[in-house]
Amino acid sequence: MALIVQKYGGSSVADAESIKRVAKRISEARKAGHDVVVVVSAMGDTTDELIDLARQITPIPPSREMDILLTAGERISMSLLAMAINNLGVKAKSFTGQQAGVITDAVHGKARIVDVVPGRIRETIEKGSVAIVAGFQGVTQSTNDVTTLGRGGSDTTAVALAAGLGADVCEIYTDVDGVFTADPRIVPSARKIDRITYEEMLEMAASGAKILALRCVEYARRYDVPVHVRSSFSGAPGTLVTNTPVAVVDAAAPNEEEVVMEAPIISGVAHDRSEAKITVVGVPDVPGTAARIFEVVAGAGANIDMIVQNISVASTGRTDISFTLPEEDGPIATTALNAVREAIGFESIQLDDQIGKLSLIGAGMKSHPGVSAKLFGALRDAGVNIEMISTSEIRISVVTREDNLDAAVRAVHTAFELDTEAEAVVYGGTGR
Ligand code: ADP
Ligand code: ASP
Ligand code: MG
Repeated sequence: MALIVQKYGGSSVADAESIKRVAKRISEARKAGHDVVVVVSAMGDTTDELIDLARQITPIPPSREMDILLTAGERISMSLLAMAINNLGVKAKSFTGQQAGVITDAVHGKARIVDVVPGRIRETIEKGSVAIVAGFQGVTQSTNDVTTLGRGGSDTTAVALAAGLGADVCEIYTDVDGVFTADPRIVPSARKIDRITYEEMLEMAASGAKILALRCVEYARRYDVPVHVRSSFSGAPGTLVTNTPVAVVDAAAPNEEEVVMEAPIISGVAHDRSEAKITVVGVPDVPGTAARIFEVVAGAGANIDMIVQNISVASTGRTDISFTLPEEDGPIATTALNAVREAIGFESIQLDDQIGKLSLIGAGMKSHPGVSAKLFGALRDAGVNIEMISTSEIRISVVTREDNLDAAVRAVHTAFELDTEAEAVVYGGTGR
């Protein structure tokens, strides 16, 4: 019998009926003889609603208080789920992140897990109970305060617990049938991927495919935790995220033991609406200026993503530097930069939160020429203007106007022949 960690996202536990449905699924796994640890997210859009509520009180809430507020969401779902499971005659006990031994650093709002000490969880499963753990939260040892892991962080809790407990698999239950070639909410003709490597999943998650949180995939890769993404609403087989790409038996020699590992050229198209763009206008074109600008941005606690420096205009000796960052970091980065405007000597700052980012991901693209040309051609045909471009070995990303993003995603998905006949099912959630 296996030790299974199951994670249920917010849309899978959106109301009392859903909680009972999920409880049934969990108790069936337990009755089949497996040891089951469950990580649960806050019900439906609770986290967003709590954030909205805080903003009605104050525009920039203290991050420590924000974390205490947000962890309440997962406390509600964990206790209700434990009640529902007990009701079905299976013992279950719920634990906060702190009680479950999830230790993090002290960065409120985006804390990193530094250790998992799941003694109480182990004890609970050894006694034959299901352990329910509140996702997305931990405790920092420096101050004993509760922390949150950043949006989507319950995925990370699940993988970290699976690694800490040596679980056989980490199942991520959500509102679609697995990882698709694009977000099924935007591209209904997206194809479900049966198996994807950590490397490609990392790029998809980093590019905004919120089906799995980025840190969850980083953690899974580091500790070699097999992650199985599937729907809590259906029995469909889902997507396996592992180290091994699809194994294709050589058709010419089907009896040979040797298999040909074939990486798809393109595994998917991801999109991200959560970033903003800052342009620092009229920057003195002298050594050290970029370093000073990005030191200030880093000092403000903002993570940056893409950077573009326009060609220096020799006659003015000035240049523009644009970069993207999470939308919520836009105001702090702008304030910090404005404070050093005279010292650095640039002219002005522009903050633009109406941008979208499209990324094309595929391990096979490094050995196939023409992928960029095809991508840009598809965007041209769809009438989409490209504002920034960045690439990695297995990814090409472009920034567009946010209004054009959905059309751009569909056009690129079609251009790379990723469409399928069957319409992808979205079982729940609001897409928020
Ligand atoms: P949960 O509440 O279960 O954590 P999320 O909303 O965080 O669910 O993630 C699931 C959603 O991710 C899906 O409903 C879908 O809209 C979105 N998504 C984005 N990109 C993809 C993709 N490539 N494949 C599947 N779903 C995706
Ligand atoms: N409830 C948190 C969020 O909405 C964590 C999660 O669902 O993974 O981001
Ligand atoms: Mg999620």
